[in-house]
Amino acid sequence: MSEFQPLPALTLYDPFDGMRFSYQHCFLCGMPTRPPQDTVPVFADWLMTRYHLHERQVKLLDMSIVQYQDLRIACCEHCRTHHVEPLEAHVAAAADRGITGLRGLDDQTMFLWLGKMFYGILVTELLTELDPLARPQYPLAENAQLFRRFQAFFQPFQALRVPMEYEDFVPGSLFILEAEAQEDTIPFEYDDDLGTLTFSIKLDNTVIIACLADNGIVRQAMRRVYQDAYRPLHPVQIAEFKARVYYAAYLLNVVPNYFPRLVKPGDQELVMDALIDDVTGDIFNPWENNTYGQSLLEMWKRWQIPLEEILRNPAEPLTFLYDADGQPRVLHNYPENS
Ligand SMILES: [Zn+2]
Repeated sequence: MSEFQPLPALTLYDPFDGMRFSYQHCFLCGMPTRPPQDTVPVFADWLMTRYHLHERQVKLLDMSIVQYQDLRIACCEHCRTHHVEPLEAHVAAAADRGITGLRGLDDQTMFLWLGKMFYGILVTELLTELDPLARPQYPLAENAQLFRRFQAFFQPFQALRVPMEYEDFVPGSLFILEAEAQEDTIPFEYDDDLGTLTFSIKLDNTVIIACLADNGIVRQAMRRVYQDAYRPLHPVQIAEFKARVYYAAYLLNVVPNYFPRLVKPGDQELVMDALIDDVTGDIFNPWENNTYGQSLLEMWKRWQIPLEEILRNPAEPLTFLYDADGQPRVLHNYPENS
């Protein structure tokens, strides 16, 4: 412990240097920590209490089962009380006001709040993989693309600890949809695709979908669909929207790079610049309806819509967001004749 020097203000932490992901170093500043007391829950206590998640089970990629309350990341006391808990209190207060409150949060706050949960899940998966008894089907640690994205994500994510301004960019794509009450039966839901840093969380009628290291590109590409979806939607329509985001994130072909500007004496915050390499290449790989159909199949599992029906017209996969004329469709029941 003695060799550890606390990081100066406005200095970023690099856990990728020496791969210091563990329960022995604070996830935000690298300060040595003592588990289990120096930890914070991945899903905040207010969230677990509100949705009765403490003992609910999560299946990890290696098929092991953990409870929500056991998903924790290492966090020193300073970062917990100065950074993580204030953020959670801020979001909890917004969530008390429902979708209006959550939509009223600024992009950076939302990015950091979602980012903390995503980080916690990803690191839990990585540390589980390091366990010699775990045998993951698709080892994350061997996924080079994931690591580039994860590194890109971690730069703007440090705004959780370091006062930071994003210069002319948003680090991720964020969508907040509203579920119509009539057939909405699930108060809390969480799913993710770690490989593309994409995930979704549902808090009552608010469904938040995020792609965390795309520099806002997916949101830009989906701006029309998002505009059309900015109204109460049937859950089957929200699932379709999610399938589109997850698939677009999968097709994304670029990883942004972020660079902190040099800090001058007297600076109160760090300014971060974004750079996208390879702008000459394609930003997205080509859209393939067959693969998109698989994404729909997965998201529509609850409604058991077969792939044949989804791809009956291979040129135009099944949609509930739009009608036959391409206009936003109003849907109150599914199946419609029920
Ligand atoms: Zn810390």
